[in-house]
Amino acid sequence: MSENYIQEIIETRRAIHRRPELGWTEFETMWNVCNHLERWGIPYLTGTKVINPDFVMGRDETEVKDAIARAIKHGVPESFIEKTEGYTGAVAIIDTGRPGPVTAFRCDMDALPVRESDDSSHEPTRLGFASERPGIMHACGHDGHTAVGLAVAHWLSDHKEGLCGKFKVLFQPAEEGVRGARPMSESGIVDDVDWLVGSHVGGALHSGEICVQDGGFLASTKFDIHFTGLEAHAGNAPHKGHSALVAAACATMMIQGIPRHGDGDSRVAVGKLVAGEGRNIVAAHAMMQMEVRGETQEVNDFMAENVEYIIEGVEKAYQVTAKIKRVGESSTLVVCPEIFDKLEKAMSEVKGVKILPRFHAPTGSEDCSWLIRKVASHGGQAGFFLYGCEHKGHHRPDFDIQDETNLPVAFNTFISFAKLINGKQ
Ligand SMILES: [Zn+2]
Repeated sequence: MSENYIQEIIETRRAIHRRPELGWTEFETMWNVCNHLERWGIPYLTGTKVINPDFVMGRDETEVKDAIARAIKHGVPESFIEKTEGYTGAVAIIDTGRPGPVTAFRCDMDALPVRESDDSSHEPTRLGFASERPGIMHACGHDGHTAVGLAVAHWLSDHKEGLCGKFKVLFQPAEEGVRGARPMSESGIVDDVDWLVGSHVGGALHSGEICVQDGGFLASTKFDIHFTGLEAHAGNAPHKGHSALVAAACATMMIQGIPRHGDGDSRVAVGKLVAGEGRNIVAAHAMMQMEVRGETQEVNDFMAENVEYIIEGVEKAYQVTAKIKRVGESSTLVVCPEIFDKLEKAMSEVKGVKILPRFHAPTGSEDCSWLIRKVASHGGQAGFFLYGCEHKGHHRPDFDIQDETNLPVAFNTFISFAKLINGKQ
């Protein structure tokens, strides 16, 4: 029986892989999810019921408008777009009608600005489901996460007679740049949740390996910085100009040189810098996208504050103005020890998997930390697990997850956890 759900996962994952969408623009992906939910008679919530606009960061109104137009062109009904209120994100609700715990499963939906490999050794290319949108790609496996979440919702709905309590499956937008989980966590949607589980494919784990993450999420702050100077003729009046390009370049070098904090690991990256108008014009505009991370909130805040000091200094030194905007934020992982044993018990029911020791090396950031924090804040238990695949690195053109082999591991773990927590007494 579970083979039907697995087949569904593969089909959904490949359909989503073909139509990748960046954070806050996942309208086609969301329709794919909600259209299925409607067909199966599963109620769901959208719009400001699941996203609190006061906490939305890094959402570009023009990009959203373009995405809506594109989605409608690709067959998404306008009536559905209205339901979204312009915000991507949906929560499926499966209520057994019997008293019991509220259990939430969270998956993310967004893709990355990466151009997918056209090499025939890359499975999506070989099998014909590579990205149809050049320059955008599911290069982190969130297509797989969404497909698993949808099949889990389907299974729960089909099997609710044998379960108690209530389930919420969260389809979160904009995980990349750590933007989507905070507004979801502040929408009230997890306020009644007793148990919440998130997961990610890949990382350091190989196919068939699975483990609980019990620490190691880095707190992070993402900045967009716009520099404005003054144009001038580079030959006859360079002294009359103020170069935003030189200011931004100098800021880049200084930012990379922020002293490291003694209390924990930190990261800093200027990932994008665009500047200038032309060869012989003193550059009046520059735009930088950068981020800092820290092993603790304090370390991250120290890094972020130093970025702000540097920008202030550069403004003065180069007589430019700089607008600095926080476009994403994530926190460290709050640890709820009670859930770890339950998760490992659920994993042990899944055939053919190898449970690795709990993972807590400080590596990436994951905004599920906000949802976990929210659930923990009212006494609930929330956790995160990782499951493996064979890959050459996340966010690369050749990233892949071997969906047939690896996604069933996540599906079966969620189902097994649901039975463990919400099994009918
Ligand atoms: Zn990811």
